Amino acid sequence: MPKYAFFQGQFVPIEDARVSIMTHAFNYGTGCFEGIRAYWNDQAEQLYVFRLREHFERMHRSSRILRIQLDHSVSELCDITLELLRKEGLRQDMYIRPLAYKADEIIGVRLHDLTDEFAMFAIPFGRYIEQEEGAHVCISGWRRVDDNATPARAKITGAYINSALSKTDAVLSGYDEALVLTQTGHISEGSAENFFIVRNGQLITPSVTSNILEGITRDTVIELAREEMGLKTLQRSIDRSEIYICEEAFLCGTGVQVAAITQVEHRPVGTGTIGPVVSRLREIYFDVVRGKNPKYRHWCTPVYTG
Ligand code: PMP
Repeated sequence: MPKYAFFQGQFVPIEDARVSIMTHAFNYGTGCFEGIRAYWNDQAEQLYVFRLREHFERMHRSSRILRIQLDHSVSELCDITLELLRKEGLRQDMYIRPLAYKADEIIGVRLHDLTDEFAMFAIPFGRYIEQEEGAHVCISGWRRVDDNATPARAKITGAYINSALSKTDAVLSGYDEALVLTQTGHISEGSAENFFIVRNGQLITPSVTSNILEGITRDTVIELAREEMGLKTLQRSIDRSEIYICEEAFLCGTGVQVAAITQVEHRPVGTGTIGPVVSRLREIYFDVVRGKNPKYRHWCTPVYTG
C-alpha cells in the first residue's frame, strides 16, 4: 500500500484519498490517467523516473480530448510526482498512477459543466506479465475502440473496458496477452501495449492512425532501434498473417517494458524462441530506463537529491 496520495490539491495519507460512489468518473468512466515507471539504480543509489515529462504531456492531451481542465502545468505535475516519491521514500522500482477525472457527484452523462480533479499515488511494482522472454498471445475476438467512438490516443479510464475484455478472455483461454484488431482487421496493439514485428530485418509497427495509444515506450523503442542498432521502423498497417511469417514480434509499454512474443495461437513466431533483435533491444532498454546509459540520462529524472 502507498503511504500517501496527492488528492484535492495536497498530499494526504492514502486512506484519506477517497471518492463517493456518486462520483461522475466512477459512474461513467470520465477520467484519464497515466502509468509511469521509476527504476531504482543500485550503483547510483538513485531512483530514476522514466520520461516523466512525456507522460504528463500526454496526460494534457488526453485531458484536452475529454474537456478536463488540468490546473497544473507539465512542470508542476513533474514536481508533484517527485515530491510524492520522496515522501514514499522507497529504494525500489515504482509505478506512478496520476488520474484526472470528472469529480461531481451528480447524475448525467456529459463532459461539459463539470468539476475536474487530479489525484496521484505510487506503488512498488515488478513485472506486468510473467513471460517477458516468450509470451504466447491470441488474436482477440474483441476489436479495438475506434477513434470515432472512444479515442484510443487518449488514455481514458472508461476505454480500459476494451482492454480488460480482451485481456481476461486471453488469460482465461491460457494465453499471456491478446493482440487486438482494428475495425478493418489490422493489428492495432496489445490489450495495454504497443506492438512491433521484425520483418526482413526491419521493424514495423502500426501507425498512430491505427487506434493505438501513442506509446512512450513505442517512441523509445523506435529511437533506440535506430540509434543503437541501426534499425529503421516502418509505421504502417500490419496484417494478421504477417505475424505468421515475421522473424520476431514483441510488445512494449511502460508496464510490459519490452516483451518477446514467441507464439501466436499455437503457431511459433519466427523460431518460437526469443530472437536476437528483441533480446538486444531488451538489454539496451533496461540499461536506459535504469539510468545506466549516459546518452539517454535526459530521459531519467532523479528523485533523490543530496
Ligand atoms: N497501449 C495501451 C492501450 C496502453 O494502455 C499502454 C500503456 N500505457 C500502451 C499502449 C503503452 O504505452 P506507454 O509505452 O506509453 O506506456
